[in-house]
Amino acid sequence: MAKAAHNHGNLIMLKGLRYLLIIFVLWVGLSGCSRPYYTETCLMMGTFAKITCQDQEAIGAAFKEMSRVDAIADNFDSSSEISRLNKTGKLKASGDMMDLVKNSLKYYELTNGAFDITVGPVVDVWKQKIEEARGNKIQALLPSPADIDAKLRLIGSEKISVDETTSVITFNQPGMEIDLGGIAKGYAVDKAVERLKTLGVTSALVDLGGTIYCLGRKGNKKWRIAIRDPRHNDRILHPLELENRAVATSGDYEQFFMVKGKRYSHIIDPKTGYPVNNGVISVTIIADSAIAADVMSTAGVVLGKEKAESLAEGMNEIVEIKILREKDLL
Ligand code: ADP
Ligand code: MG
Repeated sequence: MAKAAHNHGNLIMLKGLRYLLIIFVLWVGLSGCSRPYYTETCLMMGTFAKITCQDQEAIGAAFKEMSRVDAIADNFDSSSEISRLNKTGKLKASGDMMDLVKNSLKYYELTNGAFDITVGPVVDVWKQKIEEARGNKIQALLPSPADIDAKLRLIGSEKISVDETTSVITFNQPGMEIDLGGIAKGYAVDKAVERLKTLGVTSALVDLGGTIYCLGRKGNKKWRIAIRDPRHNDRILHPLELENRAVATSGDYEQFFMVKGKRYSHIIDPKTGYPVNNGVISVTIIADSAIAADVMSTAGVVLGKEKAESLAEGMNEIVEIKILREKDLL
């Protein structure tokens, strides 16, 4: 009798254990599907970098990739690779710097010179004006045409030599300067995504100041991205749903100043040395890589609607191009 009761007790315990086991397996399974997403933000390249994914350690590693690129392309740091190259016209470059410059030269060819990193000297002039006009403390005056004209002679990426065997980059004219502001963000985002992938991450959102890559899906849905209306900050222009795609937007609306009702932005037509003035407000590019989206959105502003669209059509890496012009708003 006592033995029977003992056996019965064992049975109940076993059953209990079995239920516990089932609950445990269910819990592990379910929490596996809905592991929480973490979002971390930091300051990078003069803007915000934001990464969302389920692996907090991986976020840190991806930020490291971005800050490595930032350190190379930072014009304000006199010891950065870009500053040293701009100062002396010659540099024994790191692998990343070589990649950045080689990609820039590739897109220079592809865009027939619309994307040209040698705009540095004129970008400096115009950014200085934008800075002066900020807060309207000082009335921004236009630079003298003679000044722009002198600097225009320094523009042209064919004047950059890259020696692949020695990794030496040389400027063929004194006074030249490169500006990686139109490509470094895209390159950095791609590097961050590569790192996340090698760490086994399959779902993430990487955003560096609006140059974005959507890795995989979030749960069973594509990542939802909103591109803001450049003329109305509180409105959404393009709601997007993306998976394994990058998106970037360039335009005349974030950095600019006005003189006599005319807008002067930070995107320069390398042929004139003046800010682009062709009625394009913004270009959004959806592409396979962030570098393509970043570069081609800037180039698209320079090229204007027709040329940008026909160029984009011939490029496999571009999925979609969306252009907003002044006259579309009328
Ligand atoms: P943001 O930096 O605001 O994301 P973009 O990606 O469009 O904007 O990059 C614009 C930057 O690219 C400018 O601030 C300047 O540093 C650089 N730039 C301007 N004009 C050109 C050009 N024609 N080709 C290459 N780079 C350019
Ligand atoms: Mg860009």
